[in-house]
Amino acid sequence: MKFPNLDAVLEDSPSGIAIVGRKLIPETEQPERLIPQLKYYMVDDSAQEVVQHNLRWANGEEEKPHFKFAYVMLPTACNQRCMGCFTGQDKSRLQSGLDGPFYSGDTIDEIIGFLQDHGTEAVVYGGGGELFTWKGAFDYIERVTDSGLGMVIFTNGSLLGEQDVKELASRDISLIISLRDTVEAKHNNAIGVNGFRRTLRTLNYALQNGMHEQNRLAVEIPVTKDNQERVIYDFVPAMRFLGVIPLPEEYIQLMTSEEEKRVCHESIGNRPPPVTDRWHARFARVGFLRP
Ligand code: SF4
Repeated sequence: MKFPNLDAVLEDSPSGIAIVGRKLIPETEQPERLIPQLKYYMVDDSAQEVVQHNLRWANGEEEKPHFKFAYVMLPTACNQRCMGCFTGQDKSRLQSGLDGPFYSGDTIDEIIGFLQDHGTEAVVYGGGGELFTWKGAFDYIERVTDSGLGMVIFTNGSLLGEQDVKELASRDISLIISLRDTVEAKHNNAIGVNGFRRTLRTLNYALQNGMHEQNRLAVEIPVTKDNQERVIYDFVPAMRFLGVIPLPEEYIQLMTSEEEKRVCHESIGNRPPPVTDRWHARFARVGFLRP
């Protein structure tokens, strides 16, 4: 399987193919550049406008609050079984609210109408499974984006073909593709199936369609004690090199077993885990820091 748009960051390794970024880290600190903001999902000037509007609303000067975006969670199944899945897909015990029936078309239209009425920019699909296991996924996407709302879609990417990604790229959608590791065997082990190459294939198609050039393409990766070195030295520099927005995030500990918690970082009070200080230092080397 070839990934022409990823060639510069992929290498063969004893554990399958691997994303390798350490060779791309410059020797010297780079000039600061503004961090690209994923369209609809990150805090930009429009978020400030929403905050100001809602402060006026709280003072009785506006009729209703506005939302920047709204998560609409759907009871979708998932084709992966990621260790410590935040919705519980790996343990066959979904969070309540995610194991009921799908909304009807009328209810979806009602939700869209409500969001439009509250100045919402976008709908976020963040779970509760993989959107593209659902036969109605593209109808839903059409319904939302044809209404004028943008979308942000979290996906493991493994079920999307070339035409699917082309269709997503042609609409007002930002994609957040999820990885668990930079090394094929480690990623596959963490997700319980062989999906690494299928996910990379979708990332390749998204690059091919230029989604990164419009800040509409991100890859997220939960950081554990096991993968943190690869996230810092390989994942972040490789994604920055490709123009993809890297979203390393602390491993969400909602549905984790005691055994799984052993690979998680520990917070200190309400402070983030200390590993973030090291990321900060590393990010300085590849540029992209806010002043
Ligand atoms: S892809 Fe997402 S929803 Fe599916 S098992 Fe993994 S973490 Fe859970």
